[in-house]
Amino acid sequence: MMRVKPDQLDLPLRFRQQQSIARAHLALEGKLVTYTIKRSLRRRAISILIDEEGLRVGAPWHATHSAIERLLRKHGDWVLRKLDEWTVQRAPARRWQDGEHVMLLGQPFSLKLVPGAARIGIQGSNLIVNTGDAFEQSVSRAVHRWLHDQALLCFEERVAHYRQLLGVDRAPRVMLSSARTRWGSCHSSGRIHLNWRLIQMPARLIDYVVAHEVAHLVEMNHSQRFWRIVGRLVPDCAALRKELRREGHRYLLV
Ligand SMILES: [Zn+2]
Repeated sequence: MMRVKPDQLDLPLRFRQQQSIARAHLALEGKLVTYTIKRSLRRRAISILIDEEGLRVGAPWHATHSAIERLLRKHGDWVLRKLDEWTVQRAPARRWQDGEHVMLLGQPFSLKLVPGAARIGIQGSNLIVNTGDAFEQSVSRAVHRWLHDQALLCFEERVAHYRQLLGVDRAPRVMLSSARTRWGSCHSSGRIHLNWRLIQMPARLIDYVVAHEVAHLVEMNHSQRFWRIVGRLVPDCAALRKELRREGHRYLLV
């Protein structure tokens, strides 16, 4: 008579639950981030994915919660920046009309269309714009031109300031650029290009970018010596550099 083998307690792999999805929260640099953890038997390493659905973590079945949090903290800057970028992409297109906000040196100003106003400029918390018509395109053009003018005035002054601090004799030519991928550049011929969109940012971030480019007049590389020079011009340059990386994309909308 054949003996029947006792039942196995372990179920074959395919019958086990192969995935589990849970919500979790984590404070990253003071911001509460909600995310999804998707555990799977097949996964071997923790992965981070950020898209229009937000932050999702893929994890091996037995990965601990603290290992997941450790990885998110380690890439905290990147996670916050990517989440912000997706938020911005979902933002509705800018309207060039009354009440819309325009940023200057980190301050918001309300757009106010005043037919017959003598010229465009700040009045209290408003940016007064006089265009012959109220077409959004005309308003947009007027505001852009004005922001360019403000940018050039401000950047030339800041470049002169840092150039004198460094004792550079020859004044570089300051030019505005509008690349969406770069805030500034310095050329060996002594030209400095600065993105006009910087004028929307708080002065501390403008100063960091300007000081960085002016330091290149002395040191045309990113060596330790270069960073020491930048550090002399703006003492908290490491924090500002981080802030620019994290917040910079907000100012690309205009
Ligand atoms: Zn550089």
